[in-house]
Amino acid sequence: MTMTRKPNVIIIGRPNVGKSTLFNRLVGKKLALVDDQPGVTRDRRFGDATIAGLEFTVVDTAGWEDDDPETLPGRMRRQTEVSLEGADAALFVVDARAGLTPLDEEIARWLRSQTVPVVPVANKAEGKAGEAGVLEAWSLGFGEPVPLSAEHGEGIADLFGALWPIIGEKAEGVSEGVAVPDAEDSKDGEEDGDGDLGPLKLAIVGRPNAGKSTLINRLLGEDRLLTGPEAGITRDSIAVDWQWTDPSSGTVRDIRLIDTAGMRKKARVTEKLEKLSVADARRAVDFAEVVVLLLDATKGLEHQDLKIADMALQEGRALMVAINKWDVAENASSLFNGIRAALDEGLSQVKGLPLFAVSARTGKGLDTMLGAAFEIRQSWSKRVPTAALNRWFDDALAANPPPAPGGKRIKLRYITQSSTRPPRFVVFGTRLDMLPKSYERYLVNGIRRELGFEAVPVRVVLKSPK
Ligand code: GDP
Ligand code: GDP
Repeated sequence: MTMTRKPNVIIIGRPNVGKSTLFNRLVGKKLALVDDQPGVTRDRRFGDATIAGLEFTVVDTAGWEDDDPETLPGRMRRQTEVSLEGADAALFVVDARAGLTPLDEEIARWLRSQTVPVVPVANKAEGKAGEAGVLEAWSLGFGEPVPLSAEHGEGIADLFGALWPIIGEKAEGVSEGVAVPDAEDSKDGEEDGDGDLGPLKLAIVGRPNAGKSTLINRLLGEDRLLTGPEAGITRDSIAVDWQWTDPSSGTVRDIRLIDTAGMRKKARVTEKLEKLSVADARRAVDFAEVVVLLLDATKGLEHQDLKIADMALQEGRALMVAINKWDVAENASSLFNGIRAALDEGLSQVKGLPLFAVSARTGKGLDTMLGAAFEIRQSWSKRVPTAALNRWFDDALAANPPPAPGGKRIKLRYITQSSTRPPRFVVFGTRLDMLPKSYERYLVNGIRRELGFEAVPVRVVLKSPK
């Protein structure tokens, strides 16, 4: 580990566009206040941020806002001078729902007079309501806007894609290992053997009545050694550390279970249960390395399940699916195959998710499921050496060369793994904007199948040298 300074990324934008929310999202903790009222006085904050292993210091400028938004640019000019000097990139946040305002344009003009590289971010872009605003954000003049929902955690991968070319090299010197976003025990992700990875952080999520509480009780039952409940991770979640003896090898392995059922009891009763299970899942996913989505065999796969699964994958977590209540399942094989097909269809980003049949009531299938969770974490945490990666890459390109639109071949030069936990790859080349999505998928599928990243959300970023 070298002692290079982490890159600084400053968040800039008019009041109420979601700067604090983005800051919280990047830092992974509730540090900054979020308020519906624009101009609420806040302090400027610094935080350690990690996106997919890209580590940087993030600076929230929300507190620099005047009560009178009209004077904001002047005040901002004064206040940001110092920080901008040390900034390696600026995230210029606008509100995709509200559209651009004169103040946004004024900030844009001012930013253009600065030397710092600017990434335009169109926040609140979730759903249809944000679409027009994202297009409009092109007109800020800083290139392709990153559509983001800071609140829902969508688009963070795109943000990574935009930041990486600017600060990636600088960040690389900082630390080789990659922390999980909560960084609550920042272990390097490169070692083999889960002893080095610490306790497996496992979250069991699913709709109400899928059997989560029953499953957790079963796992923590008398044949398991409970090493002490620990309500420390945040005030919103409950983690239990325990030890599981793997019957296939006899090894004792540490697991930290994130108890979403416990979390639910603490939540406000006014919230609808439907909504709540997604909110629960989101919190649990934040802390987990591996997420088990628990389905109910008597209910099958519903839209809500896909939503939770998609969210876990978006957040870069390793995901597995377990069909619970298998003891009372009817037409077992067609049920299993039906769910398998619906998952592949509904979650196009990861084909062939590991799928298990379990019963929380009888305990059937649980050891198999836990064994698999450790294996999946292993590949989620694995780093492929650059040489081996490029041998695979050369073969993949030879087997299926990239197209030559207009007679000019797209050149893909090499590939590196930019992070682990989850695995991220960067492909360097030229004319990359011409590369069809289908070719990107070809590479992603190849990485997953041939380099041992099954079940893991793999992302590939394309990068042209400047
Ligand atoms: P700041 O003044 O720029 O720091 O903005 P805040 O982070 O305080 O957010 C202002 C308001 O926008 C709050 O009500 C947030 O909940 C909301 N908000 C933030 N991000 C999003 C988002 O991605 N989508 C939506 N719909 N609302 C958001
Ligand atoms: P949660 O809301 O996801 O925590 O679900 P619970 O653990 O409270 O379980 C909901 C219902 O499903 C309860 O009546 C459980 O007894 C039942 N249940 C849970 N697991 C199983 C199982 O493996 N088999 C059967 N037959 N019932 C189960």
